[in-house]
Amino acid sequence: MLAENLKVVEAQIAAALAARKENKMTGTAVTLVAVTKNHPPEVVQEALDCGVPHVGENRVQEAKHKQEVLPKGGYWHLIGHLQTNKARQAVALFDIIESIDSEHLLAAVNKEAERIGKVQDILLQLNIAHEEQKSGFDKDEYLAILPKLKDFKNIKVRGLMVIAQKCDQVEETRPVFAAGYRAFCRLKEQIPDIDILSMGMSSDFTVAIEEGANNVRVGTALFGARDYSLKF
Ligand SMILES: *Cc1c(COP(=O)(O)O)cnc(C)c1O
Repeated sequence: MLAENLKVVEAQIAAALAARKENKMTGTAVTLVAVTKNHPPEVVQEALDCGVPHVGENRVQEAKHKQEVLPKGGYWHLIGHLQTNKARQAVALFDIIESIDSEHLLAAVNKEAERIGKVQDILLQLNIAHEEQKSGFDKDEYLAILPKLKDFKNIKVRGLMVIAQKCDQVEETRPVFAAGYRAFCRLKEQIPDIDILSMGMSSDFTVAIEEGANNVRVGTALFGARDYSLKF
């Protein structure tokens, strides 16, 4: 099933890239992150076998289990909210933490990365859609953290992550993604080597790409519905 779905998703990504009206500062290629949360380890292996090296998980414990039972490989993205007390595990398990949503968490991740001599790639998650329960920096918090980023020596900021609101019409997400792109461009003035703008999931990744996303997080469109009864 993945191979067929993957073809469809890749064609949609290509079409959305072609539909971009202008050259974006996020380049001309899109990284597909296969979101394997709530799927068994075999599904991660299937993605890797199909040539998708980027996998996305939203829970530390679940990713740990999968990495323990699978052969080494893949490039692991943490995309779910991270509690500070799990920072140590997250730094050990993930190549990139997309969901850094507070200064407190950034400091904890920096400390754990320093402890093991790692420079941890991260994205700052922005709360642009302001949907209830969605984490992410709001505007004031974000503006406050920007001047402090350089003090976190074991953190490499690679860019931004944005989640759009749930809505009936996918077009309603467009202003949120456009705002995410503008924020990326502004951050690039401060940190010229940022290169990742993570926006879009199964329901809205084509709109996100049209607005400038170069990293999309896709689960359902690749693997079908998740099985929430799975325990890890
Ligand atoms: C689950 C999840 C996704 C993937 O969602 P789908 O709708 O299944 O594509 C993407 N991003 C985040 C942050 C998620 O938690």
